[in-house]
Amino acid sequence: MKIEARCETCARIFSLSQVGPDAQTPGRCPFCGARFARHYTTVLMEIIPQAGGSADAFIHALSRIQAMDTGFDIDIKGLLAEVTKQLRAHDQHTPAG
Ligand SMILES: [Zn+2]
Repeated sequence: MKIEARCETCARIFSLSQVGPDAQTPGRCPFCGARFARHYTTVLMEIIPQAGGSADAFIHALSRIQAMDTGFDIDIKGLLAEVTKQLRAHDQHTPAG
């Protein structure tokens, strides 16, 4: 699953994989070259592929449940709200809205 982010320096949007260990310029904005997480570059390079892989696994598992005739429906709207809430709880920035 594509995870996008916005550079705080140039405000351009990029995919996390564009700044991961396989990127042309790992740990830097693909547009303006701003360096991300200067003090945590090693951790960032580990965690970006992990986040992508976990997101894929998450979607895959839920898709498999959805594809079964379970007799229940996953509350996707509630799930997204909960994901948002939990991620926002760790946000270092003040969300705009
Ligand atoms: Zn930038």
